[in-house]
Amino acid sequence: MLSQEQVDSLKKQVIQQIESTFPEDKKEMAKSQIESMNADEFEEFLKQNNLIKSQQESSGGQQCIFCSIVFGDIQSYKIGENEKAIAILEINPVSKGHTLIVPKEHIGSPEKLSAEVQELSKEVSDKIKRCLNPKEIAMHPLNLFGHEIINILPVYENETLNSQRNRASEEELQKLQKELSKKEPLEKKPKEEINEKNTWLPKRIP
Ligand SMILES: [Zn+2]
Repeated sequence: MLSQEQVDSLKKQVIQQIESTFPEDKKEMAKSQIESMNADEFEEFLKQNNLIKSQQESSGGQQCIFCSIVFGDIQSYKIGENEKAIAILEINPVSKGHTLIVPKEHIGSPEKLSAEVQELSKEVSDKIKRCLNPKEIAMHPLNLFGHEIINILPVYENETLNSQRNRASEEELQKLQKELSKKEPLEKKPKEEINEKNTWLPKRIP
């Protein structure tokens, strides 16, 4: 059973996903359906759509949106990955390139995060620095749904995590994803690299 607070916050998350993934003409309908559900109906909906993991499937990770993203149940804009974590673009970014490092395991305390998680954070923030040229990059750990994540926030003026957020369009996110998913840093790219082109092909959207 979800608490009213969980329902509200999960509804918000689902609506964000609808906003960023649904075709324009279906958005309003889908959003009003979600909004009109009571707690029980909504929980049932989450279960049917596999947005909630059952107890057996994951330990403590149920009802966690980040676990759903890691499992691929919810669409995200991934820009990096290693064995222990993925890097995804924030769909309501404070600034251009705002990224979340999401550990693959549902870990609640920052001390338990493995070195690989830090490595990916470093790698991604270096890449953002090179590609987007912010003044600096701020790293903010954050715990949501009991899942420890790291915000990588490019600072162009004086943005903080509490600055105003703006929903990024699907187009913007795809463009950024392409830009930030490039394999090799420009300055280190060997001249005879010929396969680089492949990574530039736009991803097909199902
Ligand atoms: Zn989780």
